[in-house]
Amino acid sequence: KDQKSGIAVFEAAMNQQAQLRLQLATDLRLALEAPHTQLELHYQPQVRLEDGQVVGAEALVRWRHPHLGLVPPGQFIPVAESTGLIVPLGIWVLNEACRQAADWAAHGHSGLRVAVNVSALQFARPDFVDTVSATLHATGLPADQLEVELTESAVMQDVHGAVERMERLRALGVSVAVDDFGTGYSSLSYLQRLPLNVLKIDRAFVQGLEVNTTSRSVVQAILGLAQHLNLNCVAEGVETPEEREALRAIGCRYAQGFHFARPLPAPALLELLSRTGHL
Ligand code: C2E
Ligand code: CA
Ligand code: CA
Ligand code: CA
Repeated sequence: KDQKSGIAVFEAAMNQQAQLRLQLATDLRLALEAPHTQLELHYQPQVRLEDGQVVGAEALVRWRHPHLGLVPPGQFIPVAESTGLIVPLGIWVLNEACRQAADWAAHGHSGLRVAVNVSALQFARPDFVDTVSATLHATGLPADQLEVELTESAVMQDVHGAVERMERLRALGVSVAVDDFGTGYSSLSYLQRLPLNVLKIDRAFVQGLEVNTTSRSVVQAILGLAQHLNLNCVAEGVETPEEREALRAIGCRYAQGFHFARPLPAPALLELLSRTGHL
């Protein structure tokens, strides 16, 4: 009988994977020639837990592929990284996010900060800080309204270079956050050397922390560390009122997640802000 071996099935699947990635790379290159036709940013509000006030939003990229529909960033960011397309993509995201944030102020919602995800490859470029500076200048966004989110691995690849670039960002007035904090492998001893402003507590530790004492202990430890180092904390992935209340009770000051709002297209965010500044 003509039954495929496990290996053949595996190879076929791998092949399909590789082909999809290849196609995504080709199509993403095309999309970046006219970014506004296929790419857009959605914005997830970040709130102050004390009173629910919206203090900013995280920009999250979306790709509307002409045939495949909405491709999640978890699928195309890795492709962008392996092909180097993350550099032009990142420049577009940065510019678009700063432009939007300047527009919120123009609509009367001043002082809102926009957080932009920056991949390791983009951050490692020698001209990264100059690009940020030029973008702020071109869009008119005040530097203290931009926050750059870096992963632990982006920082740990080259700690010395990272510290230098982070210091230059800080000198501009830009805020620096470490994303997904707690999931990486960074040695805590490095943390005090890093000129950081914010730790973003990964949602893995936020989920169910009102009942899961291990998660709660981890979050409390991160909060203690942050306080000691004079950093702000943002809890990610808050999905329930119970998680929100538990975070507030243990002294976490900022949060984001589906409980407050999903990532929203720019017009929907503006509408939300016009309706209420609080969530
Ligand atoms: P991230 O930076 O950790 O972003 C948070 C992700 O969690 C987003 O997924 C967001 O939609 C999702 N999320 C927010 N609140 C909740 C919640 O309450 N529950 C759950 N289950 N999920 C929640 P998204 O938009 O699919 O982005 C996935 C990842 O792709 C991001 O993770 C980030 O690493 C990357 N990414 C997104 N946009 C960009 C970008 O412009 N540049 C770069 N370099 N990476 C990006
Ligand atoms: Ca992020
Ligand atoms: Ca995150
Ligand atoms: Ca993540």
